[in-house]
Amino acid sequence: MTATTAIAARIHPELRALRRAIHADPEVGNDNPRTQARILEALAGLDLEVTTGTSLSSVVAVLRGTAESTGPRSVVLLRGDMDGLPVVEATGQEFASATGTMHACGHDLHVAGLIGAVRILHELRHQLPGDVVFMFQPGEEGPGGAGPMIAEGVLDAAGRRADAAYALHVVSSQHPLGVWSGRPGVLMAAADQCYITVRGRGGHGSQPHFAQDPVPVACEIAIALQTMVTRQFSAFDPVVVTVGKIAAGSKENIIPDDARLDLTVRTFSDANHEVIPERIGRLAHGIAEAHGMTADVDYLRGYPVTVNDPVEYGLLTDTVTDLFGADRYAEQPFPEAGAEDFSLVAQQLPSAFIFVSAYPGDDWASAASNHSARALFDDDVLADCAALLAEVTLRRLQRA
Ligand SMILES: [Zn+2]
Repeated sequence: MTATTAIAARIHPELRALRRAIHADPEVGNDNPRTQARILEALAGLDLEVTTGTSLSSVVAVLRGTAESTGPRSVVLLRGDMDGLPVVEATGQEFASATGTMHACGHDLHVAGLIGAVRILHELRHQLPGDVVFMFQPGEEGPGGAGPMIAEGVLDAAGRRADAAYALHVVSSQHPLGVWSGRPGVLMAAADQCYITVRGRGGHGSQPHFAQDPVPVACEIAIALQTMVTRQFSAFDPVVVTVGKIAAGSKENIIPDDARLDLTVRTFSDANHEVIPERIGRLAHGIAEAHGMTADVDYLRGYPVTVNDPVEYGLLTDTVTDLFGADRYAEQPFPEAGAEDFSLVAQQLPSAFIFVSAYPGDDWASAASNHSARALFDDDVLADCAALLAEVTLRRLQRA
């Protein structure tokens, strides 16, 4: 047992109680005042520099290590997201939310785990030859809290730029309880939205030659998007385009004025993320024009690709296997197609992000996934989450 795991085991009941209080009272988006108040209460009395956000209900705490350092004093940033989802909880747990919102992505465990890391590192601050920034972030599920926190200076909260950043995410399926997973390099996709409206001219369904029917044109675009994906992008750097919604018309004998396609677009490299809006626009405009119509293309960029720095990720997984054993780590062969706004931190700092399974049963392979109303997260993993974040910080600062 290390000092970090010993303290984690001791404070585990308090972390569990905090997690359950947050779980019962989720907040959505960038305004999470009750969660913020719980974080501030948990930090009260510790020797920290605490600030709160101005444009969102974030909390930033800076811990100053008191160990002598031989070289320059490094700064490590640890991030935990705070927000829930507009999901009606159906887990039946005794501390289930009854508010119509749910911590269905486990961010309640991220808050409690990060509070645990604060407590451990605060107790061990005489061993820290550097400083730690704790980033409690709302709005990961949208509209995005990492961007505003970076704009408000979180990366420089210690008075100088952080040297490395780490974060974790619990999952409610895919692996047995307590197994960590991830990969160096690209870990998660960039996720964008695109709305295409084909502008035609409505008319009588019996006389299409007197109208401009946008419906077959929209269908042609939907098919052509899949041809674009396979013919214009490498099979080794894939792109996912899904037309999740098509909307047009009101009745079988009326040609509508316009037809709309709603798309989600996932890319796994900055290069593809860069070019894909232009490719989709060219295709939609070109097909509409070929039929004498026009198309409006509204492209909304979401979070960028999440990339694990190989060196920082190596330190993180070495710490996992040292603390918990090699059988508790499973390297993923492929990235996830989900997205994370920790990617904005990872664009600025060498960073590492890792998943941990928090599903309590043996049927983890078929268990409800994150964002499900039935997703289950066992708070037994909280001590390990806190210990890992604290231990990797200790090692990173002592190495620098
Ligand atoms: Zn999440």
